[in-house]
Amino acid sequence: MKKAIATPAPTLEGSAEERLRALRHALAEAARAGGHAEPKLIAVSKSFKADDIRPLIAAGQRLFGENRVQEAAAKWPELMAETPGLELHLVGQLQSNKAAEAVALFAAIHSLDRSSLVSALARACDARGSQPHLFAQVNIGAEAQKGGVAIEALPALLAEARDAGLGVSGLMAVPPLDKDPAPYFALLAKLAARHGLSGLSMGMSADYDIAATLGATHVRVGSALFGKRMLI
Ligand SMILES: *Cc1c(COP(=O)(O)O)cnc(C)c1O
Repeated sequence: MKKAIATPAPTLEGSAEERLRALRHALAEAARAGGHAEPKLIAVSKSFKADDIRPLIAAGQRLFGENRVQEAAAKWPELMAETPGLELHLVGQLQSNKAAEAVALFAAIHSLDRSSLVSALARACDARGSQPHLFAQVNIGAEAQKGGVAIEALPALLAEARDAGLGVSGLMAVPPLDKDPAPYFALLAKLAARHGLSGLSMGMSADYDIAATLGATHVRVGSALFGKRMLI
């Protein structure tokens, strides 16, 4: 199957403002092509420093993503104090012993993937009296090394979350690296619809346009905005 739309190469020409504007434009076009609303853009700033992030904030970006609680806790309180209205999402694996810290820091968590985390998050949310938006992460390509709940185990995980009093608002997935992502995005959308979940967190730098066409409500874009990450 060929990709429906050629993915723009993540070049880093232009200012942060120009990159952001081009990305927003591509997202809007792709979403319109699929008959969907424009997804929210999560600028994934993992491994980048506050000084790399400030130009995007200055350009108007307010929603950011990190994949490690510790790194986010070190970087974001200062940035949040400088600019009111910033929103931070956790897009990476969460250890149960960091649930309380994550609930305090993030407006959404995109990696609910197992029973032990359901109970840890339920306790943390009870203690805090608030709950971040939750996305259940699905191992959409059934890859041994990938995080996420198996497709067959998703209904049970959602039932456990419900029983624990946690509201799950959507599904998240990262398709296999070297395959056409479109069928995986379509499958994730089908699973979300089957469970009555409106949130669809899918699409990264290489495929955000395809995800937007297929109904993503949140795309998670790092390198197309910030440049290549150093290997860490
Ligand atoms: C790093 C990361 C992203 C962003 O990846 P890019 O390819 O740099 O856009 C998105 N989602 C998750 C879960 C990530 O860990």
